[in-house]
Amino acid sequence: MKDKVPSIGYALIFLGIALILANVDNMFHIFYFHYILIFAGLIILIIYYLSNRKEKSLLCRIGLHKFEHIGWDDEVKFALIYRCQRCGYKKRVVRSTGG
Ligand SMILES: [Zn+2]
Repeated sequence: MKDKVPSIGYALIFLGIALILANVDNMFHIFYFHYILIFAGLIILIIYYLSNRKEKSLLCRIGLHKFEHIGWDDEVKFALIYRCQRCGYKKRVVRSTGG
């Protein structure tokens, strides 16, 4: 059941964006209904991630890591290794240009 919370958040955001793109009804614009949906979706996601993730930093929990470039991947060419200065989370970024 808990796993469905992020899906609900993403669904609300998606629905809000879809309403903006579809430009469906003037009534929605009067009440800023689509923005409320997106905002509610974001709030749900932030609350979910803040309460479920274990990172010390609140920013890291909602995915806002402070990455620094620490090196290159040995196996994949042109892949940069980044590590978060706060929580140590690592990610690999492959550069498509190869430069
Ligand atoms: Zn982090």
